[in-house]
Amino acid sequence: MSLPVDPAANLATLIRCPSVTPAEAGALSALEAMLDPLGFAVERPVFSEVGTPDVENLYARLSGAGPHLCFAGHTDVVPVGDEAAWTHPPFAATVANGAMFGRGAVDMKGGIACFVAAVARHIGEHGAPAGSISLLITGDEEGPAVNGTQRLLEWAAAKGERWDAAVVGEPTNPEQLGDMIKIGRRGSLSGTLRVAGRQGHAAYPHLADNPVRGLTMLIDALMHPAYDEGTENFQPTNLEVTSVDVGNPAVNVIPASATASFNVRFNDRWTAESLQAEIHDRLDRAAQLTRLRPGRPEPVSFELDWRDRPSPVFVTHDDKLIALMRRAVSDVTGRQPELSTTGGTSDARFIKDYCPVVEFGLVGQTMHMVDEHVALADLETLTQIYQRLLALWFE
Ligand SMILES: [Zn+2]
Repeated sequence: MSLPVDPAANLATLIRCPSVTPAEAGALSALEAMLDPLGFAVERPVFSEVGTPDVENLYARLSGAGPHLCFAGHTDVVPVGDEAAWTHPPFAATVANGAMFGRGAVDMKGGIACFVAAVARHIGEHGAPAGSISLLITGDEEGPAVNGTQRLLEWAAAKGERWDAAVVGEPTNPEQLGDMIKIGRRGSLSGTLRVAGRQGHAAYPHLADNPVRGLTMLIDALMHPAYDEGTENFQPTNLEVTSVDVGNPAVNVIPASATASFNVRFNDRWTAESLQAEIHDRLDRAAQLTRLRPGRPEPVSFELDWRDRPSPVFVTHDDKLIALMRRAVSDVTGRQPELSTTGGTSDARFIKDYCPVVEFGLVGQTMHMVDEHVALADLETLTQIYQRLLALWFE
C-alpha cells in the first residue's frame, strides 16, 4: 500500500469532501484511510448535545515507548459563500499558478495533510517512532464547538490517554511560513448592557427619562481608562463596543430603553472573573454620575448580561516544546519565528488544560475567503517543518 507522503495529494483528497460544519462528508473517512497503513489505531466517537448537531470526531494513535506528541485540528470548513464568485470550484482542489484552491486549503485541511505526510515520511525513514503520535481531529471547530475538541479531550482522557505536548495546525503565519508560532491566546468576554428609562415626548424631557444619556455614560466608563498597558507576552486588554441599539424611528420620542453589546480581549493581567468584577465596578460608579442627566439625582438603572462562555487567557511556558518548534521552523526555513499570543480564540484553549500546546500551521491570508488557496511550495515546506519537529521530538 502506498504511504501518504505527498501533502498535495492528501489535501486534494480532503478538499474533495465538502465537510461544511457540521457535515463529515467523508473527510474523516478519508483521513482514516491515510492513517490506517501507517499503523494508527483509529476511533471515531460521535458526540451529541441537545440543541446542537451531532458531530463526528476522530482520534488516532500510533503507540510506542517514549513521549507522546499530539497533533490537533479540524476537518470541518466554513461555508463557501457565493459559489459563483470562486475562480475554481470550492471542492475541486484545482491546481493553478502553483497553488491548490478549495475551501479548507489553509484552514485547516492543509495543516492536517502536511502533518500526515510528515508522519509517513518519518516512519519511512526511521521506522516506528520512539514514542507515541496521536491525531485529535474534530468536525466541529467552525461551528458551536460544543461536540468537538473539548468533548474529545474528555473522552480520550477518560480512557487513560495522556499527552506530553500538542501542536495545533491552524494557520498561524500572517505573510510567510516561518513568521509566527502562537504560544497562547488572549481571553475573550462578551456582555450586553441594557439601560431602562421612561418613554416620553422629546419636548418634555422632565416627564421622561432618556436611557441614551445613561447608556453613553456607561459606555464611556467601559472604555476609559485603559484596562492595562499589556504584559510580557500580551497586547493591552481591549474592549470594543460592537453594537448600540435603541430601535427608535421617531425623532420626537424619548425611547424607553437602550442597549449596547461589547467584547473584551484580555491578557494575563486578568482572569475572566476579575475582569467581570472590574467592569461591574466601573458601571456601578458611572451609574452614580449625573452630569449628563440634568435634574435626575437617582443613579442610572442598568442590567448587565454576560454572553456565552468566556474564553480563558493562557500562555504556554513549556520551554522544550517551544524551543523544538522554533528550531524545526528555523532549520527548514532559515527564519526565526516570532512567538505570539495575538488573534482570535482556537481549540488550543481546551488543550492547554491537558498538556503544553503551541500552534503552527500555514499562511492564513485566504482563510474563510472566496478563492481560499495554498501555495504547493508551502505544503512541502510545512511538511518538512513537521517532519523536522518529529525528528527532534523523538531524538
Ligand atoms: Zn481553523
